[in-house]
Amino acid sequence: MIRNTCNSLLAIVFAVAALIQNVSACASEPDVATPPEVDISGPPYEFAPALIAQAAALLDTARQQAAPYAIVQSLVTEVGPRLAGTEGDRAAVAWALATLQAMDFDAIRAEGVVVPHWERGAASAQIIAPYPQQLHVVSLGDSAGTADSGLEAPVLMVHDLAELEHLDGDRVAGHIVFFAQRLTRRQDGSHYDQVVKNRTEGASAAARRGAVAVVVRSVGTDNNRLGHTGSVNYAADALRIPALALSNPDADMLVTQLETGEPVFLRMRSTARQLAPQRSANVIAEITGTSAEGGIVILAAHLDSWDLGTGALDNGSGVAVVVEAARLISSLPQRPRRTIRVVLFANEEFGLSGARAYAERSAQNGERHFVGMEADSGDGRVWRLDATAPESAQSLVAGLGALLAPLEIPVGKLRQSGGADLKPLRQRGMPELSLRQDMSSYFDYHHTANDTLDKVDASSLTNLVAAYAAITWVVANTDQNFGRLPETPAAPASGSPGASP
Ligand SMILES: [Zn+2]
Repeated sequence: MIRNTCNSLLAIVFAVAALIQNVSACASEPDVATPPEVDISGPPYEFAPALIAQAAALLDTARQQAAPYAIVQSLVTEVGPRLAGTEGDRAAVAWALATLQAMDFDAIRAEGVVVPHWERGAASAQIIAPYPQQLHVVSLGDSAGTADSGLEAPVLMVHDLAELEHLDGDRVAGHIVFFAQRLTRRQDGSHYDQVVKNRTEGASAAARRGAVAVVVRSVGTDNNRLGHTGSVNYAADALRIPALALSNPDADMLVTQLETGEPVFLRMRSTARQLAPQRSANVIAEITGTSAEGGIVILAAHLDSWDLGTGALDNGSGVAVVVEAARLISSLPQRPRRTIRVVLFANEEFGLSGARAYAERSAQNGERHFVGMEADSGDGRVWRLDATAPESAQSLVAGLGALLAPLEIPVGKLRQSGGADLKPLRQRGMPELSLRQDMSSYFDYHHTANDTLDKVDASSLTNLVAAYAAITWVVANTDQNFGRLPETPAAPASGSPGASP
């Protein structure tokens, strides 16, 4: 689908930017050139007794008084879906500014970001042979639509992207490629990073081999008859063919019909389309540190959501956790040594527009980020503290873990990856702390119409706030240093695996 580039230079700039954007999905993906994953070992660093006492008090206060559920409830009730570029997106920015202004922050602002604007329209698909059946589908984000008359073609099933990439074009040409791989339920959600490539890269890989469309088994662990949306990453060297997600039960039925050995034909139609880019904003709130030297501690969450549900888990929960953790700190009688900055990022789901704009603006301003944390894993309980940091930081991370003993959160690993929105800052050397959440049920609801408030566990969110607040206070005040990650080049120009969930 060709974007509307007639009306402004901005649109042309955006179209170029879109070619180099990564696709995001609210999970994590390895960064290039970070050290291999290792267990954090050795004696924990012992923080100053006063700092330990303050962290313990903050942790207790948070467990008794934090109210993150009210924040996510307000967001999903008063705003609801907030897909980049839509009215909901603009309403979310206004909601965030009003919500933060009602708290005790020292500075609040919105920083403009240009975001893509894609319209879902209507999508339908049917098996027309050998056994006609209606299928439950959703268009994948950024998908091109079909012609008004729709399209019909035989189906070629592959397990995953790797299998497709071993097929010759003459096997694929003229077909609708069906990716059948199922996502496995895991506590750490790690299978997502593998399976999501079918969704993000599958359409272009199929188009290069002459396919006319793709249908992807939803990247979800549920058995509801609901499709999971999420972005397609169209490469610059391939045609933009339509891409739909099938619900898991419908994918099962398609597999069963294909296994009869008879040719299977699908009909599909989608009115999805790209519109002109829009203005959105990163919304920022700060607790000003007493020293300008120490760098910034950033707490990140993305404000945008997909359009099918109300974005209660992805990422209303993350927004509520970082805002409430910072609010508790802002109401303390003293200010931290380092500035604590909450950033609610624009458009994570459609290519990290807010994260990239923030990192560029920050670099131009000569800012230094001391360490970052990102909440974007729903409402699951924290089960481990990991870090993306140099090996020399192990003792310091272990010391932070010791502070979380009342929440029974052990320290785990120095990781290769981290939050999607913090990736541009990691590439500039910022270390990251990761409070790993239980993601066993997250992908039942992720990117579906079922991502609604009733799925959110209030007590789990409160525990998360306690962990975030205690860690944030200590890292904003310690005289120790996590060091820096090796700086890595920006993402390659096209067809890159992209950021993450
Ligand atoms: Zn997310």
